[in-house]
Amino acid sequence: MSRIAFIGLGNMGGPMAANLVKAGHAVRVFDLVPAAVDAAVAAGAHAAANAADAATGAEVVISMLPASRHVERLYLGDDGLLATLSPDALVIDSSTIAPASAKKVAESAAARGVAMIDAPVSGGTAGAAAGTLTFIVGGEAQALERALPVLQAMGKNIFHVGASGAGQVAKLCNNMALGAIMAVTGEAIALGVAHGLDPNVLSQMMAVSTSRSWATEVCNPWPGVHANAPASRGYTGGFGNDLMLKDLGLAAEAAMGVGASIPLGELARNLYAMNSRAGNGGLDFSSVVKLVAKDV
Ligand code: NAD
Repeated sequence: MSRIAFIGLGNMGGPMAANLVKAGHAVRVFDLVPAAVDAAVAAGAHAAANAADAATGAEVVISMLPASRHVERLYLGDDGLLATLSPDALVIDSSTIAPASAKKVAESAAARGVAMIDAPVSGGTAGAAAGTLTFIVGGEAQALERALPVLQAMGKNIFHVGASGAGQVAKLCNNMALGAIMAVTGEAIALGVAHGLDPNVLSQMMAVSTSRSWATEVCNPWPGVHANAPASRGYTGGFGNDLMLKDLGLAAEAAMGVGASIPLGELARNLYAMNSRAGNGGLDFSSVVKLVAKDV
């Protein structure tokens, strides 16, 4: 059993913190949204007044925040958590952020003797709830070794992909492919529907054919195909369009850093930007199908 501070209890952090409680850890939580804290307390966590309060006496600090600026603000600066954490503490950031930000925070942590890994996740909100997330880890092997019992309470597959920041690079590769696949899957189903096909039959066929993917098997962008997918509840919950847009922007930056070509990744980024401007930024990213389909 570890004393864990969990900061950021949104669509992902909420169920992840609940799984840590279920595994027997003592979890102190903080989120800016009181309702998110209330839900975690209902699941057995203890409410903290702020992030520093949550982290006081913690052996492990986990953050699950939207973007780089939130993570840097949480840990760095005179009032950041790193200024007060004990050198024995282990920091796990599971947010998807810029690899350079992950490195910067980890270097600051190391300068204070605190071990930190970047451990972004894949598996969506369903994986977070089921405790079957994939963790994609960058950092020292020793720090990952210490993190394992905690990560195993929230996930099923754990990959050590390299040094600090490497977890974020690998996560961006995954999400760039996911963004393009979701957009083209929506286009394909919209094309079939425009020809009078049943979206359920079309999707079932695709799910066992060569275009099969997470989008056809688990999280179909067409309403009614998967009862538990965001598309079947008005595209609410899930992985926000604007979070996908953020990740594709980070992938574009990462590509520029090494002169890589990502033509489809850039195209996908533009599609999610268009969907955001159409007013769908807060919906699940599968709502990108709205750009090409009527009445979804
Ligand atoms: P979310 O917007 O639902 O949750 C983020 C939470 O952080 C919110 O509850 C917000 O109030 C809280 N927050 C923001 N600033 C804070 C601060 N300073 N202190 C405390 N709380 C603060 O986002 P999410 O979907 O849970 O995603 C979190 C991260 O995980 C993102 O980086 C995202 O890209 C990544 N991710 C999401 C999914 C998914 O399917 N939703 C999957 C994999 C990775």
